[in-house]
Amino acid sequence: MAGIKHNKFNTSKREEIKNSFKKKEFDIVIIGGGITGAGIALDAANRGLSVALIEKQDYAAGTSSRSTKLIHGGLRYLKQLEIKLVSDVGKERAIAYKNAPHLVVPEKMLLPLIKGGSLGKFSTNIALWFYDRLAGVTGKDKRRMLSKAETLAKEPLLRDDILLGGGYYAEYRTDDARLTLEILKTAYHYGALSLNYCEVSELTYDGNKNASGVVCKDLLNDEVFEIKAKKVINAAGPWCDIIRKGDNSLTGKRLHLTKGVHLVFSKDKFPLEQSVYFDVADGRMLFAIPRLGVTYVGTTDTNYDAKLEDPNVTLEDVDYLLKAVNSMFPKQDLTVNDIVSSWSGLRPLIHEEGKDPSELSRKDEVFISDSNLITITGGKLTGYRLMAKKIVDLVSKDLNLKNTCKTDSITINGGEFKNPDEVFQYLNNVKTKLRTAKINDHKAEYLVRNYGKQTELILDDFYSKKRTNIVESEIWFCLNYEAVCTLEDFFNRRTGKLNFDPLNVMSEIDLVVTIAKEYLNWNEIEVDRQIKALKNKLAGKTDFI
Ligand SMILES: Cc1cc2nc3c(=O)[nH]c(=O)nc-3n(C[C@H](O)[C@H](O)[C@H](O)COP(=O)(O)OP(=O)(O)OC[C@H]3O[C@@H](n4cnc5c(N)ncnc54)[C@H](O)[C@@H]3O)c2cc1C
Repeated sequence: MAGIKHNKFNTSKREEIKNSFKKKEFDIVIIGGGITGAGIALDAANRGLSVALIEKQDYAAGTSSRSTKLIHGGLRYLKQLEIKLVSDVGKERAIAYKNAPHLVVPEKMLLPLIKGGSLGKFSTNIALWFYDRLAGVTGKDKRRMLSKAETLAKEPLLRDDILLGGGYYAEYRTDDARLTLEILKTAYHYGALSLNYCEVSELTYDGNKNASGVVCKDLLNDEVFEIKAKKVINAAGPWCDIIRKGDNSLTGKRLHLTKGVHLVFSKDKFPLEQSVYFDVADGRMLFAIPRLGVTYVGTTDTNYDAKLEDPNVTLEDVDYLLKAVNSMFPKQDLTVNDIVSSWSGLRPLIHEEGKDPSELSRKDEVFISDSNLITITGGKLTGYRLMAKKIVDLVSKDLNLKNTCKTDSITINGGEFKNPDEVFQYLNNVKTKLRTAKINDHKAEYLVRNYGKQTELILDDFYSKKRTNIVESEIWFCLNYEAVCTLEDFFNRRTGKLNFDPLNVMSEIDLVVTIAKEYLNWNEIEVDRQIKALKNKLAGKTDFI
């Protein structure tokens, strides 16, 4: 299991990185460390551009850790005749799978056909055929139409009195935050420098009134400094218009934010076997997705105009999702008390007069201001690579650089497997290794899906330091290789435990704090602050307003 060199990507490099930021003029500075900024950083750095990226929270703490976590073509966008979007992102699924086979996992989707539902058998068959065609899906992945009995065999919890049959087709699932982080780590390998917990407060301009850099503040020590760049890229997702306003260029098209909420149930309460994409009474569709020990359901789609950081989940959101899920899976009779976690995210969509949230296009948009600030927003997690290509092509042309995009064949950090089958061989090796320490196979699956080939670093630490719990090696790894600055970074975006294993977080805090406080030089006041913040976050996962 040896042989790959993984670069350290950690807080001890902050001063070094800031010094580089201050010293030279970069080709591009990117505002925002979500999937959009990360994708641009990777493409640009791979093409030889010098790249600085600034993120004011943790990487992926905006929308890019709050999605449905699917790498999908967006079947429902066919209804809106977004043919190019479906075709583009549909094809991107295979590329994402090839480049990160541990993190992008095939997930068959079941589409139940119900009496009075929005789709009939004939139209679903045609729609799925077209969906496959657009994305170039071949072989055993092609869609199949199922009888009622076949549909129930795939998912026995479905309501059978209104069930007519089903469609069965290929999608992929991922961990959005980890995908963003691994792309940034890959970008770092190609020379892109980035900093989390650093906020851009204003843009700077040259004598011709062209954007020529940013002023930012390191939020960990309040240091203010400037980064000079030939091009400034605004990839700030839901915050994009704040940056445009600061540039005096918030004219014409604007953002229209909509909120999407997901609820998480334990496997005991909602033992779903199969991912399902189902009709809701109001004509919308929801996902129910099983994932290591839990099932999650989402999402809502409502207009939003409150605080952008960490949008909350209301009782109204919960009520809507519970009603919908109980209508399709009535045997479960789920209540608010069965929810073990939740999350809420904001879609940075473009406003279209008179359209409801669910009707707004998911296409990406690029705006170039008079000062040449380049803004990119909208789009999907799945289409991040094409969005990045669009921006780096544009910048390269402006800077007279001759280069081509190669991100379709760049392996994403941790995904250094020859093919997807090798992931399973690797997983079996990890299972065998962990069984010697009496650790169950579930943990092996979790580690390999989270960290890919970096699992070996975690296991080496676990065995060589004779740790008592794998989580100690995980935090050691995330501090050294994943720029963790807070307990929440670790429990939320590096491991997904706040969403998917919330009941175990409390039992792991002490072990994690012991290692984190030494590495990050926390005094007792800071330790208390970190623990309190994490506990608040955990409580907030089931505390609805
Ligand atoms: C509920 C929901 C479900 C979704 N499901 C899917 C799905 O299953 N599949 C899919 O393909 N897509 C999905 N999407 C869409 C996808 O998640 C988004 O398109 C994508 O994450 C947007 O990424 P981004 O990088 O543009 O924005 P963000 O991830 O929000 O990143 C912007 C970043 O900029 C930072 N920032 C802002 N201002 C500053 C500043 N002044 N200085 C420094 N940094 C700053 C923010 O902190 C933030 O981290 C979903 C979206 C939602 C909301």
